Amino acid sequence: MYQHNRYQKGKPQQVAVVGAGVAGLSAALTLKKQGVGVVVFEKDESPGGHLQQWHALFPDREPAAGVLDLLKQEVSEQKISLRTQTEVAAVTPSGDKFRIETSQGEQNEFDAVLLATGFQLFDAARKEEYGYGIYQRVITSAGLEQRLGHGGTGLTVNGRPPHRVAFVHCVGSRDEKVGNHYCSKVCCVTGVKQAITIKEHFPQCEVLNFYMDLRMFGTGYEELYREAQEKWGVMFIRGRVSEASQMYDGTIQLKAEDTLMGRPVRATVDWLVLLVGMEPEKRAQLWARSLGLRTGQAGFFSSPEKFLHPSLTTVNGVFTAGACTGPASIPESVSQGRAAAISVLEFLAKKDEAGK
Ligand SMILES: Cc1cc2nc3c(=O)[nH]c(=O)nc-3n(C[C@H](O)[C@H](O)[C@H](O)COP(=O)(O)OP(=O)(O)OC[C@H]3O[C@@H](n4cnc5c(N)ncnc54)[C@H](O)[C@@H]3O)c2cc1C
Ligand code: SF4
Repeated sequence: MYQHNRYQKGKPQQVAVVGAGVAGLSAALTLKKQGVGVVVFEKDESPGGHLQQWHALFPDREPAAGVLDLLKQEVSEQKISLRTQTEVAAVTPSGDKFRIETSQGEQNEFDAVLLATGFQLFDAARKEEYGYGIYQRVITSAGLEQRLGHGGTGLTVNGRPPHRVAFVHCVGSRDEKVGNHYCSKVCCVTGVKQAITIKEHFPQCEVLNFYMDLRMFGTGYEELYREAQEKWGVMFIRGRVSEASQMYDGTIQLKAEDTLMGRPVRATVDWLVLLVGMEPEKRAQLWARSLGLRTGQAGFFSSPEKFLHPSLTTVNGVFTAGACTGPASIPESVSQGRAAAISVLEFLAKKDEAGK
């Protein structure tokens, strides 16, 4: 059922890629172009991972659908063997190979495995003070992405444009109470990107961002933050929202503290957007641990050689890429996927050499 490859001098070699997000697909494309046999396992119905859910991408607000289409087109042109609706349930060593077991109970052996299992969103209901899951107009940044399409009609309230929208940064990140000490890295710039998109759709809407500090780590991110303030009039308030409650008309009332001015703030908003953080994909983490993979403090996969060979793991022949190794943007995940493919090629070449 799986194609043979041109790469090896000896026996045909096959690589399993777990996860068809941008990291997994980039890795698979690189491997395939080098003549290696690849099978990509994806638990969802279609490939693309979280990119499928986004509206426009930071830093340029390029439509996500266009990027996804290009990726899918390349996957189809390269005839990548893609097994959708197939969750990998276990990876176990079997001689000098790895046995992949799927949730359907199917088993196949591969010469190397590349894990690109991505992230899951922090469950905002765990922060009870914001009322997510109870109040209809408290939504997450991921939920907002869905509402930003079609001119932002998902944000209108009884047919009228929203008057005021507030964002809360660091929901489920940098938070001792939920046990996540790390910064999720992409949510600050996501909040800025989304604030601008709201202003593009509804220029009269007031947009407030409540932050602890702003982390604009990537190229073009700081410029986007300036644009949000100077061109679009988005307001940034340093302080934590301590409480949100629903008013009789469905609006949300916030209590916060402006820590720069040292005074309490109250605001009534049409929508409260929680910028939720990234957590490691829990199910993949479980079987990966039983395989002997090391995870860092935050639970993301970590490499024993994180400076020079970041895609290596503690198990020879198993590699990682993308947001399963820690919060990452799309370009970073793509680069990691490609880099991991090179490490896989080096491993296969050595294996091939040894087998002769
Ligand atoms: C709200 C929000 C907005 C964002 N906006 C942007 C943006 O504008 N620009 C940008 O650069 N980045 C953005 N990001 C970051 C971006 O989503 C990530 O960089 C990217 O999704 C990481 O890709 P990935 O392939 O590593 O993981 P994922 O996208 O999570 O893909 C992993 C894939 O693996 C599959 N999988 C997991 N476990 C298994 C298993 N056991 N078996 C089979 N399949 C499995 C999953 O179903 C999924 O399809 C945003 C993130 C958030 C939270
Ligand atoms: S990127 Fe910003 S919002 Fe996200 S955890 Fe880090 S500081 Fe908080």
